[in-house]
Amino acid sequence: MAKYKIEHDRPGCIGCGACARACPENWEMAKDGKSKCKKTSISQEEYKCNKKAADGCPVNVIHIKDDKGKKII
Ligand code: SF4
Repeated sequence: MAKYKIEHDRPGCIGCGACARACPENWEMAKDGKSKCKKTSISQEEYKCNKKAADGCPVNVIHIKDDKGKKII
């Protein structure tokens, strides 16, 4: 069951690729040079990897909210 929601402010993505390297399970680079989030609803098990992707984003365009809508990052 989905526990966390991912928000990707794609227009602000600079296409550095860090998220796709940190969490290839859920992040990939798209043809336009920016990254793409495969799944925006993630489980507890998937959280760690996606948190790493968000932490490593140099322009802070990856955000994660918990099931109550509280922003974690
Ligand atoms: S780490 Fe941030 S800036 Fe870099 S590709 Fe991912 S979302 Fe874009």
